Amino acid sequence: MDVVSALEALQGRGMEVLSAIADGRLTRQRLIDLGHPQSTARAWARLSEVFFGPTRSRRLQAAAVAAARDGGLSVDALRAVDKHARKLLKDASVSEWELRLELCGLTGTVDEIERQAAARVREINRTVADAERKAFGRRSLKGGKNTDAQGLRTITVTLPERLMATTLARLRVTAGRLRGQDAKLSYEQAMADAFLSHVGTGAGVAAGTVPPIPLVVIGLPDWARIHRQEGDETIFALTDGTTVTGAELVAGQMAEHHLVGVYGPVEGPVNLYRSERLASGKQRMLLAAETILCPTPGCTTSADECQVHHLVAWQHGGETNVASMSVVCRVHNARNDDDPNAPPRNGRLERQDGGVVFHPPDGRAVETNRHPIRELSAMALVNA
Ligand SMILES: [Zn+2]
Repeated sequence: MDVVSALEALQGRGMEVLSAIADGRLTRQRLIDLGHPQSTARAWARLSEVFFGPTRSRRLQAAAVAAARDGGLSVDALRAVDKHARKLLKDASVSEWELRLELCGLTGTVDEIERQAAARVREINRTVADAERKAFGRRSLKGGKNTDAQGLRTITVTLPERLMATTLARLRVTAGRLRGQDAKLSYEQAMADAFLSHVGTGAGVAAGTVPPIPLVVIGLPDWARIHRQEGDETIFALTDGTTVTGAELVAGQMAEHHLVGVYGPVEGPVNLYRSERLASGKQRMLLAAETILCPTPGCTTSADECQVHHLVAWQHGGETNVASMSVVCRVHNARNDDDPNAPPRNGRLERQDGGVVFHPPDGRAVETNRHPIRELSAMALVNA
């Protein structure tokens, strides 16, 4: 079969793909092995759970599956259907499954289905009492964790439409003024500058809530080279998940905002054993430098945003020394299977050969977080 026939064979068979995931013929790992990103494998598995998993509306679920089969919806079209069905507000005039059934009857390209579904759900939601307050409850600011190849990070802000419109209108006034002063500014640059001037740099931080001070992780030989004014291009990791060059460090551009940790064999009063449940500040810094990011595979949360995690849970006799701890993000800390003797559910973190590794719940080989910045972590520098 050539690739074109393979793609044609898939046409209109989204439900069959989801059904294969539901009955175990197609696992998440298989999807990843076939070249799909982890996010896609996760989304497809979740979608399969929606259409084939347990629900109180079994009859409507079966009808929706049949409608999508008849209409020949692709997996992408079904993702659009589910994405908008999830946006149905509580107390709407139709139930979520009545809506899914209706949306599974949509026809056209994926983009057309996407637009029709969005418009239909918006129409229903408008009739819900208190819709605006409910929309406000879904406000969010996300992202800002991933650096792209040009050194940029992106956040996504979600607000009810009117609030977003007035917020942007305010930014536009400032942006307009900035462009008046500098004709070379593009509209997008002026909006970004306006955003920065409105948010300020730390001006809005409440008293007493000092953000953590990032620690720069430097191996002993590099430290010596920097002092000889060499190694300008060497890149170092900070515990807030960003990087800095030797030249930037020497220039002292960030002097007020960071500490420098020269990471050789570190000695000190780090063994507290059971006398103290909470990790000391020094231990926290060592652990942050060790891992730079949450050690869970695929996680991008910086060590500074992480919580101290007891690899051997406190109730199972875990000691408060660095070897029995790591820093782990809030989500993965909560998901970790703390009891090594209980049946595995989400998998667990463990220290192995010095580093922290993840044991998948299905018994596959241990994995590590292979994010590139972790090659600059203290653990990697020490083991290099
Ligand atoms: Zn994590």
